[in-house]
Amino acid sequence: MQTNMLIGGAMEAGTETEEQVLNPRTGEVIVKMPEADADQVNRAVAAARAAFPAWSRTTAGHRSALLLAIADAVDARAEAFAKLEALNCGKPYHAVLGDELPAVSDCFRFFAGAVRNMHGPVAGEYLEGHTSMIRRDAIGVVASIAPWNYPLMMMAWKLAPALAGGNTVVMKPSEQTPLTALLMAEVLAGILPEGVVNVIVGQGASVGNALINHPEVDMVSITGDVATGRKVLQAASRSVKRTHLELGGKAPVIVMDDADLGRVVEGLRAFGYYNAGQDCTAACRIYAGRGIYEKLVADLSGAVASIVYDNPDDSLNEIPPLISQRQRDRVASFVQRAADLKHVEVTTGGALHEGSGFYYKPTVVAGALQSDEIVQREVFGPVVSITRFDDPETVLGWANDTQYGLASSVWTGDIGAALRMSSRLQYGCTWVNTHFMLVNEMPHGGLKQSGYGKDMSMYALEDYTVARHVMIAH
Ligand code: NAD
Repeated sequence: MQTNMLIGGAMEAGTETEEQVLNPRTGEVIVKMPEADADQVNRAVAAARAAFPAWSRTTAGHRSALLLAIADAVDARAEAFAKLEALNCGKPYHAVLGDELPAVSDCFRFFAGAVRNMHGPVAGEYLEGHTSMIRRDAIGVVASIAPWNYPLMMMAWKLAPALAGGNTVVMKPSEQTPLTALLMAEVLAGILPEGVVNVIVGQGASVGNALINHPEVDMVSITGDVATGRKVLQAASRSVKRTHLELGGKAPVIVMDDADLGRVVEGLRAFGYYNAGQDCTAACRIYAGRGIYEKLVADLSGAVASIVYDNPDDSLNEIPPLISQRQRDRVASFVQRAADLKHVEVTTGGALHEGSGFYYKPTVVAGALQSDEIVQREVFGPVVSITRFDDPETVLGWANDTQYGLASSVWTGDIGAALRMSSRLQYGCTWVNTHFMLVNEMPHGGLKQSGYGKDMSMYALEDYTVARHVMIAH
């Protein structure tokens, strides 16, 4: 197992406090890994700084070719990456290999093409006797900090547009899931010039904190909790760094009375529980019209009870455990507080799974009210709440009544109603009659406290570059 960090051109181990990397299926230690010390953090940033002038001046075509080489290398080692990710996150192997790995290499391929196809305003004489043109240039050294729910995919979302744009990067994976990032570091060391990407490991409070406060870092890109995003903003305000924030979510799912019930149930069984609900876009906050509510609760509860997990035959497993005992206990306490309410009924799940590992039973919480904690707060677990509504105006108000603004969906047979609602939902994405589907050509990112950074798509390339004006007097 590759456990060394990448600093400049060298692979080296950390020397500070050891972090235990756990297998969430068993709770056993996979490996103990010392985190980066202050000198290693400084050397990683210095290596990125030193690499920046040459890398930022390479042609778009050159960077594109290297991104394509990274994509090919990921595909060539897809099984090794998938095995490690499955081990470290507890995910079913076939799901990582089939769903995540193709999206990872496609992300590098998308940005390889995108950087050769950037558009902008035309050069021209906007002031008499002067020609103006717009450039999009690299920003500098980007500190990229990732969460534990999709470690390799988040790494791709952060690296590909940053590198395409001509930036250099210091990447810190989550301390809970560093394994695929370190394998990726080895792959990158064989493809990119020294210092263009550096990968260091460690806790948020130590290594992460040192990175976001580092005077030689020009931009911080983070996917994580809203509270962590606030810390990044506070740190950034001291030296006026650029920030790219992808924070939490609590996706509303509006099911109108005329929706196709079978399709809704199938969709919510998949999109509410994928990755055990540890997904910022998970279809977790359902609003069902009065006419469809009872049937939806009954059918969804039955469907959710059939979700397969912790099966000795991993090819049958549909969802992983939670990432840690702490996360599982957090999920359990949310459900317990909801279950204590008189108006709430837990129709399936609502308990820890017996046996080893950090499993929690897939759960449906019916009868929840708009003001309930289970409706308002991000649980980040295999738990979906269902709230009954009477009219479209009320449900639109409820759907928008939250601190989050990442993803939402509307399920209906009436395309007009779907378009009316989509136009009024204050979310970075609204799906109609589906949920959760992402493509590298389209942006992913939020409003409100979900943050404002865009991942994937040309918009991410804009986020990782700066528009500059050059004016020539004739
Ligand atoms: P987290 O905020 O605890 O950690 C995310 C990363 O930030 C980790 O690498 C961590 O080490 C680092 N970090 C923590 N404190 C830090 C500090 N003070 N300074 C610098 N770095 C610090 O989040 P998590 O628990 O790993 O991930 C779950 C959260 O991520 C959820 O809230 C989820 O919604 C969010 N998320 C959002 C998206 C999105 O695209 N919007 C995607 C995935 C996850």
